[in-house]
Amino acid sequence: MDINANDPAKKSWVSVSENSDFPIQNLPFGVYRDKSTAHRVCSAIGDQIIDLYKLCELGYLEGMGFELTDFAGPYLNTLMKQGKASMRRLRNAISELMDQDTAHLRDNESHTKAVLKPAADVEMLMPVEVGDYTDFYSSMEHATNVGTMFRDPDNALLPNWRHLPVAYHGRSSSIVVSGEPVRRPMGQTRPDDSAPPVFGPTKLLDFELEAAFVTFDGKPLGERISTAEADDFIFGMLLFNDWSARDIQKWEYVPLGPFLAKSFASSVSPWVVTLDALDAFRTPGPEQEPEVLPYLRYSGDKNIDINLEVAIVPEGGEENVVCRSNYKYMYWNMNQQLAHHSVNGCNIRCGDMLASGTISGKTPDSFGSMLEISWRGTKPVTLKDGSTRKFINDGDEVVMRGHCKKDGVRIGFGEVRSKVLPAFTDL
Ligand code: CA
Repeated sequence: MDINANDPAKKSWVSVSENSDFPIQNLPFGVYRDKSTAHRVCSAIGDQIIDLYKLCELGYLEGMGFELTDFAGPYLNTLMKQGKASMRRLRNAISELMDQDTAHLRDNESHTKAVLKPAADVEMLMPVEVGDYTDFYSSMEHATNVGTMFRDPDNALLPNWRHLPVAYHGRSSSIVVSGEPVRRPMGQTRPDDSAPPVFGPTKLLDFELEAAFVTFDGKPLGERISTAEADDFIFGMLLFNDWSARDIQKWEYVPLGPFLAKSFASSVSPWVVTLDALDAFRTPGPEQEPEVLPYLRYSGDKNIDINLEVAIVPEGGEENVVCRSNYKYMYWNMNQQLAHHSVNGCNIRCGDMLASGTISGKTPDSFGSMLEISWRGTKPVTLKDGSTRKFINDGDEVVMRGHCKKDGVRIGFGEVRSKVLPAFTDL
């Protein structure tokens, strides 16, 4: 089935400003609530959200195999259960209805009023009920920076790194949506290697700039997904801030990897931008040397050109962009990640979330964490208000944004914005 919704020449009867993240070529999926409704599935166009429940109720999606309950929320999972072909058909249908040349909905004022709502008037909710969350470590620049800082600059990458997409199983229960504040975690650290560990709030709270993808139902337990099949199991992507407590991490991570340093929170943007919508922004990935094992080989352009940025907003202050990176720097692509994840027969389920790992570029202004930007605290960043940051302070907001741009089409992800609250130091 063609992805008709991607036609760059398409224009909508809904006005969309030049720098909007949500032109008619995007049509992401999310879940919203407002004064009149608890939770409903929606899409976005320009500054409006499209209430898909209402669209279905009014008969605009008739004959497509959807039930009204598919759009009732509270998560996208019910809809995602329908799989890739249905979601593509749905996005194509929404695109057709929003096209400037389609009069059907456009000319029915009471219906447009019921279906479109200003995005500013609604609250976006956690879009997906995440079953399992896996965090990869797929940026060579990030892995090299961390290896250089903590181990050996001459052998920054561990021997396995170029042979497999390294990952660990994260915690899904603490994934929260943009707008939800994040509490500074308490934990055990060992600031002095010659003294016993101590307990208290993390002193080294960090963000990690990542993008995550959400899956459809995979194959049964015991079967695997090839790199060629992977696209059919990926619904879409969102921005992902993998909050990290560096001092807790340093003390706890050997031998089994990160635990409490990561599990206190990860924040996501509310819109799932479909893999279909990102198709026009495919780009070749970095050359992989040495050649990978056959099950990790792939054909075609599987990286995606997504401009990413991170800003810090001190309490009551101005925004300071501290990083500009790009998803295309990823050494391991999503197809390889999914093939590797399932190669042992591990089953992938609808609503699993697989994050990229911190996305750093080659230059310091493209590093995707404060650990790298401040180079372990040795190079503090000066903000516009004159204050400095080695890591993230209480009251700071961290904002991540992303967008693709090509041939006059700009497809964005919106943002993930989270404020850091002081630790609960009393029990
Ligand atoms: Ca991470």
